Amino acid sequence: MLDDAGLQALREAARLSPDNLPLRRHLAEQLLTKGYLADAEAEFRAALMLAPKDPDITAGLAETFVRRSAYGAALAALEPFLAEPGHPPRMGVLAARALLGEGDTGKAGYHYHEAVSRDPGVADPELAARLMAPVAFAQAVPSPPAPAPVEAEEKVERSEVTFADVAGMEAVKETLRVKLLLPLRQPELFAAFGKRAGGGVLLYGPPGAGKTHLARAAAGELGASFVSVGLADILDMYVGSSERNLRAMFDLARRQSPCVLFFDEVDALAARRSDMRQAHNRQIVNQFLAELDGVDQHANEGVLVLAATNAPWYVDVAFRRPGRFDQLVFVPPPDAAARAAILRILCRDKPLAEMDFDAVARVTDQFVGADLKGLVDRAVEVKLQQSISAGRAIPMSTPDLLAAAKGAKPTAVREWLATARNYVLHANESGAWDELLPYIKGKW
Ligand code: ADP
Repeated sequence: MLDDAGLQALREAARLSPDNLPLRRHLAEQLLTKGYLADAEAEFRAALMLAPKDPDITAGLAETFVRRSAYGAALAALEPFLAEPGHPPRMGVLAARALLGEGDTGKAGYHYHEAVSRDPGVADPELAARLMAPVAFAQAVPSPPAPAPVEAEEKVERSEVTFADVAGMEAVKETLRVKLLLPLRQPELFAAFGKRAGGGVLLYGPPGAGKTHLARAAAGELGASFVSVGLADILDMYVGSSERNLRAMFDLARRQSPCVLFFDEVDALAARRSDMRQAHNRQIVNQFLAELDGVDQHANEGVLVLAATNAPWYVDVAFRRPGRFDQLVFVPPPDAAARAAILRILCRDKPLAEMDFDAVARVTDQFVGADLKGLVDRAVEVKLQQSISAGRAIPMSTPDLLAAAKGAKPTAVREWLATARNYVLHANESGAWDELLPYIKGKW
């Protein structure tokens, strides 16, 4: 992203050549990226005067409106394009956000899924989750014209990371080793004790704490293939299609066995049925349960199901029965030692001078892995610019990370723990959230 001086230079350049369309468009986009929404709006409007009906500029203007919660204005800008079948998918997603803002979940769901089906790159898991669960999902539209084919084989990954790439979290890694890896590596031992491998693990914890990273590392550790399933892979507005997509993902994992099948944001697919207003959603839950159980006893052999959620309390208890997600594993926010270890891993392939990771860990209280990654990325960007100016690689050192930490705010750990606290204190009859107690009562 441009810094403020760069932005000022761009403004000045645009002022001097007011008819330079690419320049004005670039300026408008930079203003939007930096969140100067009023200025961005003015610039997009000026650019539209030069190029009326330009789809990218219109999309930029609409995004500015959406971010200012001016949903009606966004829809008015988008409407002429939305009627055209080939409109840019980004516009469909913006329309979905605006429609959701206006409370029209049904139409929002339609535009979102239509856009994602044409370009999966525009998927926005957070928006998809809001469109779906736990309270509302797009109105189910009857009669599927054609089931949306899931591009199945493309979803299979070979994971390049292993537990060695996951810093800290020793207890979590040990649980996963016992639960997932040992039964596959030493089936005789488990058979001797009359235990069958199988059953999934539900990883839960604040966003960005490393749940996806862990799941991927588990696949790498095992040499198994990895299939990561997000909401956009499953949810479909047509009745029956979501269930078909879900089945396709399980079938794919079975064909790829041994395979780690990972569901992100699983609370949206596995929400408590009592919370659901739409029968359609309950069918997805039932289908999910049926797939976990497998049609026959051996159906899921070699398939390790992992799922992640920031909101485990929304997950239907039926998912926690034996053979399903029978293990709940808390992925905690990292303490100072874990933060230093994460930083060390994130920096290990960068040119480094002296580096005191513990010092950086001390000033990044409440940062999770994703925050630390953002911090390192920013420091690297600054270093890169300095290196370009100097004409030689300047290694990164402690002050660079400390400077990046200064401008950074940790994301949602405190908020997440406040929510978690309610569940631990008021709905912990079964002891399901005991693992959280030290965090609730501790310094966090
Ligand atoms: P979540 O799934 O919990 O939202 P992610 O797994 O997407 O979080 O974590 C975001 C990023 O943070 C990861 O891609 C990884 O680079 C980094 N990260 C998080 N935890 C760790 C860790 N323990 N060790 C190394 N990197 C981590």
